[in-house]
Amino acid sequence: MAGVIAGPSGRVLLALLGGSRKNGMCELYVIEIYCRNEACAVRQSRVFTKNHGDTPTPKEWRCPGCGGTAVVHWKRSLQEHEHHETLSAIGRVNAALYVRDFGSPAVPVSYLMRETLPDSWKSEDVERLRK
Ligand SMILES: [Zn+2]
Repeated sequence: MAGVIAGPSGRVLLALLGGSRKNGMCELYVIEIYCRNEACAVRQSRVFTKNHGDTPTPKEWRCPGCGGTAVVHWKRSLQEHEHHETLSAIGRVNAALYVRDFGSPAVPVSYLMRETLPDSWKSEDVERLRK
């Protein structure tokens, strides 16, 4: 049976589950679901799953907020998700540097899509971005 973990502590639990993956006994996924209930306050959730053996991921999803039907936006393996999150973080840093260097909040998409930090990146930039 697949283990399903949802909620704000999911990222921490996912890190703990990651240790089990090395044993080759389970597969870890991150799944984003969207609630179809327009009156629901939750609407979008990320679910961290640990699938054992040949157990398939559930075919039907329920919103953790209202219990209504939810649809899958996307599903990634843990490795794919970590890669995506790293690229997203690099994009946010490049966007912040663009705003700082050019003074415009209209960041070109090409900056958001970069897969590396600029050569001009310096550790003191971290402190400036925090302000
Ligand atoms: Zn809902």
